[in-house]
Amino acid sequence: MDLGLKDKIALVAASSKGIGKAVAHALSREGAKVAMCARDQETLSAAVKEITADTGAPVWGHACNVSDPDQAAEWVDKAMEHFGGAHILVNNAGGPPPGQFLDFGRQDWENAFRLNLLSTITLSKAVLPRMQAQKWGRIINITSVSVKQPIDGLILSNTVRTGVIGLAKSLSREFGSYGVLVNNVCPGYTLTERIKQLASSLAQKEGVSEQEIIGRWEADIPCKRLGRPEELADLVCFLASERAGYITGVTIQVDGGHVRGTM
Ligand code: NAD
Repeated sequence: MDLGLKDKIALVAASSKGIGKAVAHALSREGAKVAMCARDQETLSAAVKEITADTGAPVWGHACNVSDPDQAAEWVDKAMEHFGGAHILVNNAGGPPPGQFLDFGRQDWENAFRLNLLSTITLSKAVLPRMQAQKWGRIINITSVSVKQPIDGLILSNTVRTGVIGLAKSLSREFGSYGVLVNNVCPGYTLTERIKQLASSLAQKEGVSEQEIIGRWEADIPCKRLGRPEELADLVCFLASERAGYITGVTIQVDGGHVRGTM
């Protein structure tokens, strides 16, 4: 299937590692021009180099903390200046820390809001006028299965990410007539540093091994294994493509069947 992604300009936020990096790599493999960011320039440069060496397509990276609205907007401006526009935005960031409601104070809530909701608002606002004017755009938000089925012990994630879903649905209605499509992709348990940190934190709390925690998760997933970042990246590529021209305002999980709800 030709996805029509060659020479499309794709901005992939928080992409030096994990899911963001896999998405940047997959889009680059399809011939897109990819702009990447992460907070640490050294790790980011290594990721840019690795992807360029593999695909040969243009990849550009600039350090940016997406929790800081000024830095986030500046990254978009620089990326659009570098490549001469923007067709695709993938909103991604790290995840907020695990914990229960009484563990967190106001600053923790503000940090989670800035990391996972305000970053999506800021980055989307920075690309939307361009996408609207060119009558073509794709915005894909990486969220979590927690928006469909809250995960115990992840109160910050469960709460702020649902705001992203409301935002995406509203944007899909506001910008659909301009050919700008907005969708959400929800990772289930996916093998990245983030999931290893969560396993380690739970293992310490319960006095068991990380492997035991991962084994418990796997047992509760119909596919009986954790996901690979590349499996999620493939869906993002499809949603970013010409072929997904009639899909907007949806929230799709890539979770091996983990979510029990019917929708
Ligand atoms: P990860 O920790 O492996 O990678 C996160 C990436 O984001 C890294 O490149 C990091 O440098 C970058 N980053 C983090 N904070 C940033 C910031 N403020 N500004 C710029 N860059 C930043 O995480 P991941 O597993 O790839 O997860 C990506 C997203 O998906 C996270 O929001 C995570 O919570 C969510 N998620 C992951 C899983 C999973 O199982 N891996 C499940 C559900 C949801």
